[in-house]
Amino acid sequence: MNHPPTIAQVTNHDGVRYERRWVQCGKSACTRCPHGPYWYAVVATLDRRTTVYVGRRLVYLTEERVRAIRIGHQIDYDQEGRRR
Ligand SMILES: [Zn+2]
Repeated sequence: MNHPPTIAQVTNHDGVRYERRWVQCGKSACTRCPHGPYWYAVVATLDRRTTVYVGRRLVYLTEERVRAIRIGHQIDYDQEGRRR
């Protein structure tokens, strides 16, 4: 089941929206919900939005990565923003 996250903080950088979220994992036996808060980047494209997990610390996506997301290429990056 998909629970909507609670958004604790929002900031914008270079046209990308960054949301700090408390996340419900949806496991019925979980006693630690909500999890986080974790930062997510929300990148808008023409017809949809792509949400990318950032982590506990806010690190802005590189311009290259934002461009790749906008044209629909999902490239795998590590936490430092380097291509795997
Ligand atoms: Zn949980």
